[in-house]
Amino acid sequence: MRIKKAAVIGAGVMGASIAGHLANAGIRTVLLDIVPKELTEKEKAKGLTLNDKVVRNRIARNGKERLYKEKPSPIFHKKTADLIEVGNLEDDLEKLGEVDWIIEAIIENLKIKQGLFEKVENVWKPGTLVSSNTSGISIHDMVEGRSAEFRSHFMGTHFFNPPRYMKLLEIIPTKDTDERFVNGMKAFAESVLGKGVVNAKDTPNFIANRIGVYGLQITFQKMLRDGLGPDEVDSITGRAMGRPKSATFRTLDLVGLDTFVHVSDNVRENVQDPNEKKVFEVPELLREMVEKGQLGAKSGEGFFKKV
Ligand code: NAD
Repeated sequence: MRIKKAAVIGAGVMGASIAGHLANAGIRTVLLDIVPKELTEKEKAKGLTLNDKVVRNRIARNGKERLYKEKPSPIFHKKTADLIEVGNLEDDLEKLGEVDWIIEAIIENLKIKQGLFEKVENVWKPGTLVSSNTSGISIHDMVEGRSAEFRSHFMGTHFFNPPRYMKLLEIIPTKDTDERFVNGMKAFAESVLGKGVVNAKDTPNFIANRIGVYGLQITFQKMLRDGLGPDEVDSITGRAMGRPKSATFRTLDLVGLDTFVHVSDNVRENVQDPNEKKVFEVPELLREMVEKGQLGAKSGEGFFKKV
């Protein structure tokens, strides 16, 4: 299987970094996102207008420039980021017809992802693999209604954050995925992307996130019950436990609190055991933070300021 050119849809926390990781492996990558409907107050104050130039700059800011800033990253610099071409989904959808692999990394919402794959299929060509970076939504449900041929090319490829350092890649085929594509993706991810691949079943949150989100929620609930602060929890769950940087709350800030809420809500809806459902209940404090725009690293403030 030859993957020379890829497309990533969604230039957020994961999409931009996945595009970076691909470029770093020498793969030309198109990075697409949606056109923002409105300018932010900051942009208005700067006198910007909502024209194509602004849109493209904004995508570039989310994508390429973020990548240049990430430190330390000796394996990652402007030269490799130049392999990334940014664009907007509405105008540049046709570009998906020119790539060998399309990776979806947009907001964690089943209906929105389904709508996107419907559009993607219109420009998709047989032979191009398509995958989702979802944290735990059903891979099968995402492409319900798409043709059997499209579904045979479709699977979950779940990267972990940050993709350039985290070795694990979960591959989640459905009963409709052609085994040749699953094996091809595994070989490519291991040999070209440097990943350790685990095949997971299409169950809520797959393997790593079913356990990981469970652990984060238990820790969160304990903190609230015992009146601990994020600093105290992180001092125990970080270096002390052999995790160099990302302890519990730093991890949540990195992931994005909005994404974490979506992921927890999704798994709670889809697990059957009532005790497990209870664990995945999102604490009110977390929802309030999201409402206030305290989303973690992506908004500059989460549990920690200046993340
Ligand atoms: P994010 O919020 O940082 O980015 C989401 C992007 O989706 C944004 O750039 C947004 O403009 C775009 N988007 C929103 N609505 C859209 C629409 N209707 N059509 C097209 N694009 C749209 O989110 P993220 O953290 O990068 O997560 C992306 C995916 O990756 C999710 O499925 C998430 O569950 C998964 N994931 C996230 C992490 C993590 O640590 N954040 C880790 C692994 C997997």
